Amino acid sequence: MSTIDNLKDRTTPVFSKDDVTVLFVLGGPGAGKGTQCERLVAKYGFAHLSAGDLLRAEQNRPNSEFGSLIREHIRNGTIVPMEVTIALLESSMRSILSSNPNPSKGKFLIDGFPRKLDQALKFEEAVVPARFVLFYDCPEAEMERRLMERGKTSGREDDNADSIRKRFRTFVDTSMPVVEYFEAQDRVVKIDARPEPDKVFEATQAELAKRLGENF
Ligand code: AMP
Repeated sequence: MSTIDNLKDRTTPVFSKDDVTVLFVLGGPGAGKGTQCERLVAKYGFAHLSAGDLLRAEQNRPNSEFGSLIREHIRNGTIVPMEVTIALLESSMRSILSSNPNPSKGKFLIDGFPRKLDQALKFEEAVVPARFVLFYDCPEAEMERRLMERGKTSGREDDNADSIRKRFRTFVDTSMPVVEYFEAQDRVVKIDARPEPDKVFEATQAELAKRLGENF
């Protein structure tokens, strides 16, 4: 991926935040980010980029130089190096924008990102500053119950008790500081993720209306 080399030295964003609206979507594993993102896409026309999905696709791409590195991190529930994740996100954004009839405008939900502070800083420096973070807050016991249930059918290598425990630890140690960083800038919209999905979506819509206006 040629974007990787280019990314390291870049200190100005490639997209303007007047043209591109980015919301980061965070929450522990099993908090329901994917479910809410699906609904947000249907209602507001966001493009949905899941960092985890992009990494899994890259892992499975024949001849990817990053395949085994990604697989190892996913299995251990650890963070894939930021250059790989950011390059995948940037190239997806470019291809979505270039196929858009109004190419300068785009609305993106970036799900499962940034999971570590260095990713947040680099993405905002070199790609585009985000508007805010949608943070789905859920107790660990409930997330564990949901993941074990999903594991019966998901086929995901990391929906097992051992990987789940590691993912929780990574979330608390590495991703919560990202939430705190944005919170200190009043850029976090926190949503209680315990209720059923429809209720969580109602709360999400109400918060978006407050932050982005009714006609977003
Ligand atoms: P998810 O599909 O969001 O649950 O992510 C599954 C796994 O992909 C995580 O446990 C990490 O190993 C990896 N991953 C997902 N998002 C990121 C990210 N933003 N940065 C680095 N690694 C990630």
